[in-house]
Amino acid sequence: METKYLFVTGGVVSSLGKGIISSSIACLLKARGYRVTIQKFDPYINIDPGTLNPYEHGECYVTVDGHEADLDLGHYERFTDIQTTKANNITTGRIYQNVISKERRGDYLGKTVQIVPHITDEIKRAVKQLGLTGEFDFIITEIGGVVGDIESLPFLEAVRQLRWELGRDSLCIHLTYVPFIAAAKELKTKPTQHSVKKLQELGIQPDVLVLRTEHPITSEARRKIAQFCNVAPDAVVQSLDLPSIYEVPVKMHEQHLDDIILRLTGVEAQGEPHMAPWLHFLEKLESAETPVRIGLVGKYVELQDAYKSISESLSHAATYNDRRLELQYIHSEKLNEQNVDSLLSPLDGILIAPGFGQRGIEGKFVALKWAREHDVPTLGICLGMQCMVIEFARDVLGLPEANSTEMNPNTPDNVIDLMEEQKSISNMGGTMRLGAYDCRLRPGSLAAEAYGTTDVRERHRHRFEFNDEYRARFEEAGMKCVGENPRTRLVEVVEIPGKRWFLGTQYHPEYSSTVLHPHPLFMSFIRAAIAYEAGKSQGAPSHSPESEKL
Ligand code: GLN
Repeated sequence: METKYLFVTGGVVSSLGKGIISSSIACLLKARGYRVTIQKFDPYINIDPGTLNPYEHGECYVTVDGHEADLDLGHYERFTDIQTTKANNITTGRIYQNVISKERRGDYLGKTVQIVPHITDEIKRAVKQLGLTGEFDFIITEIGGVVGDIESLPFLEAVRQLRWELGRDSLCIHLTYVPFIAAAKELKTKPTQHSVKKLQELGIQPDVLVLRTEHPITSEARRKIAQFCNVAPDAVVQSLDLPSIYEVPVKMHEQHLDDIILRLTGVEAQGEPHMAPWLHFLEKLESAETPVRIGLVGKYVELQDAYKSISESLSHAATYNDRRLELQYIHSEKLNEQNVDSLLSPLDGILIAPGFGQRGIEGKFVALKWAREHDVPTLGICLGMQCMVIEFARDVLGLPEANSTEMNPNTPDNVIDLMEEQKSISNMGGTMRLGAYDCRLRPGSLAAEAYGTTDVRERHRHRFEFNDEYRARFEEAGMKCVGENPRTRLVEVVEIPGKRWFLGTQYHPEYSSTVLHPHPLFMSFIRAAIAYEAGKSQGAPSHSPESEKL
């Protein structure tokens, strides 16, 4: 079949969950056996979100091919089990960069380079790039921002032209918001009508409307919207607030959104999507009552999107272990020796978050020392793993000034140091060690047990690494380097075998946990947390005998 292009736009307000709707559509089409991918266009000038502070834009997600991407790509992967790449996330900055490079090369042969047609052509090229591979039946393109934003205009103009060129092989799905005015006890459809008018002014007629709402849309309101917006009544679909984002594909299917998309793109629907594994996950999610209490120690806790992939990975693993995730965000800047006991002792497991820079780092050390001494299951990710190494060096190896050269360039014990290849780098954007690299695990280690294999491949985002000069001292004192890059020997995983579960990874396992394939390390971590909690409630000692000497 011809590749079909589905464009997802948003109106009225931002944060309506275009990423979740796009992911849900992809999930349903994939469950029908189609080959699907999703891409996101972000209308900002940054080349990628890699240099953005998480407070600006939430987590920076990393694709296997080492692209620093918008967090929506994490949703795409978690909902669909497909791997995204650099081609799946494009910003205005990248579009302009490409056009300007072409101009400098002389590709435009003396023409005046303009937003229309040169920028819009570049956007169209990026949309179609994934289609050219012939690997996909459906390409879903999410346009970031809200219709009416100045920034989105070139993207919408490109969508208009593509819709014209592609005809029935394309579709526009517009997501809007229907507010409920409490005083009038009424759902208001006017903002949706205005938003569609705005799209129409730009020459785009939406084919499907998805209405975000906190209250069910009445059939009267649905009819009215269909009539005023030139959309078939059954193509007006509601998206009610739900307890879990993973219920959205099911609710969309109940309203036949996948059938409507197939019908409108001229594809004959065959049978039903194979959603049994997804429904199995949802059943577990809904029936899990017993909590597993995990504390996430990090400095961006005011904005939970900053740790999106981590919280989702924990939730996948808790669900498959028949537990309800009770996630507590613990501000590393506010954690100190006085409050650590009261904050951490109710927990069954502790996760030390990734991050950059000095702020909040001391709180991570306090948490790690407490967790190590109380033998609580602990997972350190990236900076979290580096902090595990530093804390161990200070407290067990007796190197009180041990540090990462990221925090103190003059530390006498640089147990974490800048990677050699990073030393000559001056540009900050896209220059970390990024993407998937191989890692070989020591047979018999906790990590190898968790994975059920010794050869894994995981994604990275860092500049600093474990300093190999200290490896023997760590090994001797009980912190083992059980995972390393087979080519460079860069330390990828550390653990303390005498402990219940104390493990740190230089890589980010959270980027590859999906609803249908929870990550083995998170599974193992949650199992350890459950076992620890069970022991606690049966009155087992909180210290394991081995922990005394560490
Ligand atoms: N700041 C550390 C480094 O660059 C850790 C990065 C991270 O946690 N993603 O190596």
